[in-house]
Amino acid sequence: MLDNLYRQVVMDHAKYKRNYGELSGQSDIYKIHYKNPTCGDVMVLYIRIGTEKIEDLSFEGEGCSISMASCSMMTDLLKNRTVKECVNKREAFERLIREGELDDEDDLGDAASLQGVHNLPARHNCALMPWQALDKWLEEHRNGG
Ligand code: ZN
Repeated sequence: MLDNLYRQVVMDHAKYKRNYGELSGQSDIYKIHYKNPTCGDVMVLYIRIGTEKIEDLSFEGEGCSISMASCSMMTDLLKNRTVKECVNKREAFERLIREGELDDEDDLGDAASLQGVHNLPARHNCALMPWQALDKWLEEHRNGG
């Protein structure tokens, strides 16, 4: 399983979810539903975008510890990031999970502690869930939606 030290960080995020709950406010808020059929994890990702950056993001959902920790970590990591930075982080995180590789400049914050999931192929989709939700939003956003 996951290395002890990393597991502590993961369990902490799974138990004390950061940025949990629906985003409220009068400005445009994107709401993206996502489901991981391989494990039954479900989530809704909320994103509020400013002129240049993601101003705020949050999530609601239910699922295994890995999926919920990953949601918590991703929403922490992407606050005040530009779309381009989000794309870069997304690529770095997928490489971490699929290949087990992490470069120093990737700077994934607590999300880097999910590296051990690389050795658990059945759980890759759990760790990637919030990032796949982000992907849906990125695709729409690129198309001006
Ligand atoms: Zn799961």
